[in-house]
Amino acid sequence: MTNGHQLRLYNSLGRRVEDFIPSGDVTGMYSCGPTVYAYQHLGNMRAYVSADTVRRALRWKGFTVRHVVNITDVGHAVSDADTGEDKMEVAAARERRSVLEIAESYTRVFFDDLKALNVLPAAEYPRASAYVPQMIEFAAVLEARGYTYRLPSGLYFDTAKFPRYGELAQLHVEGQLEAARVEQVPGRRRKTDFALWRTEEPGRRRVLRWDSPWGWGTPGWHLECSVMSIALLGPHFDIHTGGVDHRELHHVNEIAQSEAYLGDGQPWVRYWLHNEFLQLGGAKMAKSAGGAPRLADLVAAGYHPAAFRLFLLGGHYRSQLDFTMAGIDAAQATLRRLAARIQPLRPLPAVETFEEAARTADPRALDLIDAAISADFNTPKLLAALQDALRDPEITPDGQRALVAAADALLGLGLATLDPADLAGQSADHLTPEERDAIEQLVADRTQARKQRDWARADQIRAELDALGVQLTDTPEGPVWQLR
Ligand SMILES: [Zn+2]
Repeated sequence: MTNGHQLRLYNSLGRRVEDFIPSGDVTGMYSCGPTVYAYQHLGNMRAYVSADTVRRALRWKGFTVRHVVNITDVGHAVSDADTGEDKMEVAAARERRSVLEIAESYTRVFFDDLKALNVLPAAEYPRASAYVPQMIEFAAVLEARGYTYRLPSGLYFDTAKFPRYGELAQLHVEGQLEAARVEQVPGRRRKTDFALWRTEEPGRRRVLRWDSPWGWGTPGWHLECSVMSIALLGPHFDIHTGGVDHRELHHVNEIAQSEAYLGDGQPWVRYWLHNEFLQLGGAKMAKSAGGAPRLADLVAAGYHPAAFRLFLLGGHYRSQLDFTMAGIDAAQATLRRLAARIQPLRPLPAVETFEEAARTADPRALDLIDAAISADFNTPKLLAALQDALRDPEITPDGQRALVAAADALLGLGLATLDPADLAGQSADHLTPEERDAIEQLVADRTQARKQRDWARADQIRAELDALGVQLTDTPEGPVWQLR
């Protein structure tokens, strides 16, 4: 049995590319999930598509993965530095709905978006609110071991007691302290110290509140990921993912509290993967309910969710990407051409792993695809290898079939079923019913003319459609049209 090239990945812990060696039969993987106080925008979704690429690559290599993604429905203060009000409560007040309703509705939309983007479902989506007793126990252990101090505002982790603090972020803690411009928490000893428990202020009763040894209040945000990942994946697991912003604070704090809690001298998690940001400045489109654009806005503008996925995969996960309308247009056009090119090859075989693909896929092209994904998940290179293979006249249709299936096991674009007709260049939604009827009529007239072998008439209608900006494609099922 062979799994192709050695999988190598860029580990934020140490900032170098390393071989991935799993610690056991099941590869445990944890991804920081959303705070469900608002819609996840397009930028937020990049983290989940990136994590999905990692998962697909692990599956490709024959590893069994157990993936956990948390849902933060309590405890995330307005500032990541654990000061200010709870995001959930602010949202509830803004929308005049209960915190529970807010959490449920935004969680549902998040799941819908994951599904639309063809993200493989995680084994577990733990809710922070369901783990508060475990978080209290965890914080109590840290307190018993002398890692904490109490203030009227809560229980704080004393980062001075954890000498390796900040290794992941490569923080220079002393320099940071001097440059301290952050909000002051009265009594906090160091700027880097963070709340494990946030005790509610007298007279300011929170909506979400639990009793604890440190008074009524809510857990600190960083705590949930340590507690839920250890509860669901065991004390140590292989991979932790998240956006690059988490590398500097949230994950630094997760490591400090987890390693202090475990106390076994071992690194808590061995591989840390961080995706870069997606900049949304170039997203000029109608936005629902204000804020940054989200997947539903793209769909309303006539784009297929897979086009957004392709747009993301067209950049390496560790490179910053700028979202632009030209970019998403190009992605949709590329996807349309890919789907049209693949249509005659269907049905595609079922392929998830390198081993399965190796049975029938063209070996040379397969090697290029495997080399790309194995080199720190290089999806742009993988896409280029797929395009080249589809143009290569020396590869047999059978060799291409398995190759497309193999590439898509990693890309997750749904190439086995994508209909080019669903990938119109521009939404036809803005047409009036009359305009739409007129186009349909012309298309039907042309089909009739072709049946009667009146080629001059058929060509003339095609020219008329062309002048209207309608692009016509003849498929075995009949003509399909889209606006250019
Ligand atoms: Zn987290």
